[in-house]
This record gives sequence, structure tokens and C-alpha cells, in this order.
Amino acid sequence: MKVVIAGAGIGGLTAALALKNSGFEPELHERSDLLAEAGAGIQLSPNAVKVLFALGLREPLEAIGFEPKAVRLRSASSARLIAYRPLGAFSTDRYGVPYLHLRREALHAVLREAVAERGIPVKTGSAVETFTETDAGVDIQCSDGNVTADALIGADGIHSRVRRAFAEDEPRFTGMVAYRAVVPASALPPKLVEPTATVWMGPGRHLVHYYVDGGEQVNVVAVVESDAWSEESWKTAAEPGELPAAFSGWHRKVRTLLEAAEDCHKWALFDRAPIPRWSSERVTLLGDAAHPMLPFLAQGAAMAIEDGWVLSRVLEHREDEAIATALDQYQQLRQLRARKVAEASKAQGDMFHLHAPGARLARDLKLGIGCRLLPEIAMAEYDWLHGYDAVRRFK
Ligand SMILES: Cc1cc2nc3c(=O)[nH]c(=O)nc-3n(C[C@H](O)[C@H](O)[C@H](O)COP(=O)(O)OP(=O)(O)OC[C@H]3O[C@@H](n4cnc5c(N)ncnc54)[C@H](O)[C@@H]3O)c2cc1C
Repeated sequence: MKVVIAGAGIGGLTAALALKNSGFEPELHERSDLLAEAGAGIQLSPNAVKVLFALGLREPLEAIGFEPKAVRLRSASSARLIAYRPLGAFSTDRYGVPYLHLRREALHAVLREAVAERGIPVKTGSAVETFTETDAGVDIQCSDGNVTADALIGADGIHSRVRRAFAEDEPRFTGMVAYRAVVPASALPPKLVEPTATVWMGPGRHLVHYYVDGGEQVNVVAVVESDAWSEESWKTAAEPGELPAAFSGWHRKVRTLLEAAEDCHKWALFDRAPIPRWSSERVTLLGDAAHPMLPFLAQGAAMAIEDGWVLSRVLEHREDEAIATALDQYQQLRQLRARKVAEASKAQGDMFHLHAPGARLARDLKLGIGCRLLPEIAMAEYDWLHGYDAVRRFK
């Protein structure tokens, strides 16, 4: 069975590996010429790492990943420790695999190499434009010619073309902009950055930093509320000094870090409302094409990775050879989880950005007391997310 995948991002590449593993013949069509991810970091929680390890990527990922010791939430103005949650050995003991921080390009390169090793064809400069479903298969029109397959998967991101067959919606600007930069650790004073994921919370904005490249670089994501996005593109270079200026009243440690961030880009954060249906007889979606979400729980790529695994297993184990039934089952299985994670991500951002002093105090007390007095309960709060084991559920 030949499956064409539109998009060779993290979701498309993972789906290709999982489908190959299940005995199918995937073929990737990627719009861009260069298979390179934009410079930034990515957090991979155990629910995603489990799938990637099951696809045989343990060794290369452990070689390039940085294992954070904990997540620490700090006050933007005073640097006071509000709350913490252990990761590192705790994550491995509790979930069986580590929590990893990586450079996106490095993760993308690992996936691409695995795809090449397994002989999966990748057509670059090939944008999927339209398609027609027939009884025999799907006729797919790409920018470089036509192709026929038994099934088509739209893994073509938040601006998905394939999604147009299922919904007429457009991505919505969420009123938030994310600055992203990678700073060499050698350019920073020693011990400025802890070996943790650190979240600084202030009214209307927050900032996250963590090590990537095995500890040689520090990845920074700084999110600010902003009424308008005036750029044509959803990603653009930030002006020199723009990022430090946006956080000028923040603690000295944050300012020192931001002043060292030379090459900084900003992304407008978009989302889309959930759609009731994203699968038809022979076509389905995955990752951001199906269910984009805000990045405040670091789960967008993780959901795309889980999607790829579940889709491949549901297709492999379909009972009546009918692709449509399997695609429908896949959609139902993933819709509920993706929606829950998207809602939780939005709530997390609202919590980070609280404006009213009373609400901030109540939040800090609740988080602080929870992790200090009832650490087991505070930690179990993430089991539904990080403890989700797609590999065991869908063998
Ligand atoms: C600031 C920020 C921080 C984030 N941090 C994290 C994190 O720490 N952890 C996490 O799990 N997630 C994180 N995310 C979310 C994550 O980046 C996305 O959810 C993830 O990249 C989605 O992967 P995807 O493969 O579905 O789509 P994409 O990564 O968008 O890939 C889509 C691919 O399809 C190609 N394409 C587009 N149109 C076509 C077409 N018509 N034909 C062929 N190819 C096409 C594109 O060129 C691209 O290569 C973050 C997001 C942001 C904005």
C-alpha cells in the first residue's frame, strides 16, 4: 500500500518511519527545497520520546539530547523560585524514558537520516496542491507533477493545503508573538543559566530557557502579548535590541541573557478552532495540519509524533482492509487527546500571563504549596500527558 505524505516536518518524517515499520510504502513530498528546520530548540517529553525510541532512534537522540534536571518557575522581577518539578532521573524512573531538550535542526536531521536509511523516497520542491479521491486510490496534483497513491496524509503544518478539503477556516492570530534565539553558553557568565527548563512569569508575558546541543547553547523562547501582527510573514527577524527592550523591567539574569541573543527571530502565534472531521475515505491529517495548538506545554510536535505512530498501527491492524474505517478510527482516537492538550496549553499560557496582582499571588501560593507539601500529587498532575504510552496502547 502506497501512502503519500504531504510535508516532511517532524510529523511527516515520523509518520513515514512508523508506516514503513508497519509494512507500508510511504513517499514524502516536501514543498521546500531545503529540508532544514528553523534555528530553535525543542522540548521532547516522554510521551514523544517513547515513540521515537520505538522507531529505533534511541542512540542518536541520546547522543544529541540534553536532559534537564527539573522545570523551575520563577518570578520575572525578583527571580524568586515559585515552583519546581523534577525531570532528569525522575522522568526516566516514572515514565521509562528521559525528557530531552534538543536543537530542532538536530532532531530533524536524525529523522531525515533514518528516513534515508530505510529507503523512503523524499521528493523536495514538491508541494501538494489538490487531490481527487477515486475508488482505486487518490490522484494527487503536486507542483512538480501528479502522483497516485492508496492514501494521502496531510502533514503540511498549520497552513495546510490538504486541510482545505475538510474545513474552510484560516489560522487565527492569537494576540501573542514568540521571540526565539539560541545563545552560546560560552557568551554567558558561568551559572547564569541553570541546567533546568526555567520559566520566568510576568504579567502579559513569559520567557522559557533551556540548554540544547548537549549544553553548549541556550535556547530562549520569549512570549509577549501584542495587539497586532503587521508583518506579511508569520516569521521575521527581530530588530537588534527589540527583545531586551521587551523585557527591560525583568530580573538582571534575564536581561543579561537577552543582551547576548544576537540572532533573534519572532513568530506570530496562530491557532485554529478544532474541526469535527479530518479524515475521508483515503485522506487524513496529522500534527499541526489537524490540530495546531499554542506551544505553552511544549506538545505540538509531541502530538504530531504520537499521531504518526497511532495512524500507522491502526492502518496495519485494520480488519476489513477498508482504509476509510481505519482513518476514521485514527481520527476519533486522536481528536480527543489533541483537543485536551490544546485546551491545557492555552490554560497554561493564561496562567503564566496573569495580570492582576491578587490572581498572581494566589497562583504562586497554589503552585508553591503544591510542589513543596504535596510533591507526589503535584507531579502526578502531568501523568496524563507525559505518561501517555502510544507504543504500548497501539502495538
Ligand atoms: C515558539 C514555539 C515553540 C514550540 N516548542 C515546542 C516544543 O518545545 N515541543 C513540542 O513538541 N512542540 C513545540 N512547538 C510546536 C511544534 O513546533 C509544531 O507543533 C510542530 O513543528 C508541528 O509539526 P508538523 O510536522 O505537524 O508541521 P510543520 O513542522 O509545520 O511541518 C510541515 C511541513 O510541511 C511542509 N509543507 C507545507 N505545505 C506543504 C505542501 N502543500 N506540500 C508539501 N509540503 C508542505 C512545510 O515546508 C514543512 O516542512 C513549538 C511551536 C512554537 C511556535
